[in-house]
Amino acid sequence: MLQAKITAYAKINLVLDVLRKREDGYHEVAMVMQAVDLSDTIHLKESERNWITTNNRHIPMNMNNLAMRAVTLMQREFPGKVPKMEVDLEKRIPVAAGMAGGSTDCAGVMLGINQMCNLGLTQKELELLAAQLGSDIPFCIGGPTALATGRGELIEPLPECPELHLVVVKPPFGVSTPKVYGNLRVDEITEHPDVQACIHGLQMKDTKQILNSMGNVLEKSTFELQPKVKLIKDGMRTHGAQHVLMSGSGPTVFAAFEEKKEAEQYYNRLKPQYPGAILTRTINKKQLDERVEVYGRE
Ligand code: ATP
Repeated sequence: MLQAKITAYAKINLVLDVLRKREDGYHEVAMVMQAVDLSDTIHLKESERNWITTNNRHIPMNMNNLAMRAVTLMQREFPGKVPKMEVDLEKRIPVAAGMAGGSTDCAGVMLGINQMCNLGLTQKELELLAAQLGSDIPFCIGGPTALATGRGELIEPLPECPELHLVVVKPPFGVSTPKVYGNLRVDEITEHPDVQACIHGLQMKDTKQILNSMGNVLEKSTFELQPKVKLIKDGMRTHGAQHVLMSGSGPTVFAAFEEKKEAEQYYNRLKPQYPGAILTRTINKKQLDERVEVYGRE
């Protein structure tokens, strides 16, 4: 029986800028996105019917789950080539965190089906299909470092980020991405992050420049909706991190370090106050290229 195991990695935004609100209601963004070593594991198996099992009670256990939406999209696009599937989703990425947890599961299923069923789709073709299901999904198809523009679905690969060590804090509540964008007043943004400086830092492999250019214009909006997120960010700074940023629309906040040892010491200092803190790092292309494992082929 044909099966696949997929490691679906989370992301952070090193830079998130919003340029304007478009006529179609979406916001025009410019984001430097980075895959991180925090992942869900997806098992795909040919089955009599489409169904999903998961270890997480807080996500839909039906066809609304983004992993299942990927299955039905692929079945619709490639009739007769994609069998019914059982999806087992082992979630470790925090839900509604701003780390693209659902998007990466969706992308992982599409990548898995592409290989399992020998569809031969290119990365670009998969990205185009993925954009139908959500703005963050095309990035999750590719990565590990990319510029996302448009509503976030137009992806340009960037030079790989030198390894950064991260301490991630996910508060015990979620925030709704549409609410954060709804609360944003683009014309009142006074300070835009310097996306080009970050890209230049990546091109030059200049970690300090990358860290110094980190920024996220959604922070103010999320802080207004959930003031606790600002308290966490301030608290993380007080514990001695220089580069602290909210990821995506939040509420996850991360601290980034050049040196592993520094991140480990910081993590140990932070842990008593934030027991759920996660120590992780950015990932490279080689690790991403090994995401999908197909087995059971005769
Ligand atoms: P993004 O960073 O792309 O905005 P996020 O990290 O903020 O995403 P998700 O973890 O993707 O948020 O969850 C957003 C919503 O999607 C949740 O309310 C959840 O119920 C729903 N959802 C559907 N499928 C999944 C999935 N496979 N994993 C997590 N959430 C899912």
